[in-house]
Amino acid sequence: MTTPTVDLLHEILDEIRDDRSGELGAHLADYDHPKPDALAIAVCDLDGNVVSAGDDDRRFDLQSASKPFVYALALGRQGVAEVRKRIGVEPSGEAYNEISLEAGTGRPANAMINAGALVAHSLVGDEGDDETARFERIRELFGALVGREVEVDEDIAGIESRLAHRNLAIAHLLAEEKVLIGEPHDVVEGYGRQCALAVDVRELAMMATVFANGGRHPSTGERMLDQQAVRYATSVMFTCGMYDDAGDWVYEVGLPAKSGVSGCLMAVVPGRYGIAAYSPRLDEHGNSVRASRAIAALSAAWRLHVLDSKVGLAESH
Ligand code: GLN
Repeated sequence: MTTPTVDLLHEILDEIRDDRSGELGAHLADYDHPKPDALAIAVCDLDGNVVSAGDDDRRFDLQSASKPFVYALALGRQGVAEVRKRIGVEPSGEAYNEISLEAGTGRPANAMINAGALVAHSLVGDEGDDETARFERIRELFGALVGREVEVDEDIAGIESRLAHRNLAIAHLLAEEKVLIGEPHDVVEGYGRQCALAVDVRELAMMATVFANGGRHPSTGERMLDQQAVRYATSVMFTCGMYDDAGDWVYEVGLPAKSGVSGCLMAVVPGRYGIAAYSPRLDEHGNSVRASRAIAALSAAWRLHVLDSKVGLAESH
């Protein structure tokens, strides 16, 4: 098995550093971004060893990278059948904030787009849990994953809350279809705070490793997420995690991955590594340009594509 090296990570970043293409997330139009050219990558193995390069101490909001964890949490708490009744598992082929609801049932297409993520968020609580209780369950999970108290970036949460019109519209439709549990405003507010929780790239790599490790924490071995829930969530990440670029991504890079509009991206190499990269400028799908390039380069260099048979690897490498 190839061992991750810091040198290779630096090489990859050097290769893509000058790519300034893409735009900051549309929601950041009036935000004075502290570091729009930040660039970082990290890899964590199943023993919890992390190697990283670039701006690896810079914290960013998780945004949609929070979705697979919350989905896995909902699956673990409610059971697969219950969650499946409310959230589908098909790629929508549409943008992340589309109203992709199944005709007849009103189910969102999957849990990686906003519609499904709102429902997943609403499913992490017990009956009677309010917005704060639901959010705290999620914050607690992320805290346990990274080994410290995780905080909301309040500037980002404020923006999220002011610009929530589309998510509110989606949540109201979901409530109308009786797919959403809870009151739409509360769910959107809690979901916005979930998206604004901030970690750094090393921590996100560690979080991704929990998926690679069947739900157990790589450092402590403690079970963080239900194993079956992790398998299902990883499957949905594989087919839907890169939104309407998911097909290209699987074809070229071949790793279950999830992007966030802050510019973060995490990828899972089942049974081997968790990978994370960060660079704020996004492509037309809402995926980070350079984080995608960095992880694609890593996948190519280490032959991480999960559908690569590895036959003849010794001769060709
Ligand atoms: N908070 C963002 C939203 O709901 C998350 C979307 C994303 O990261 N793609 O619009």
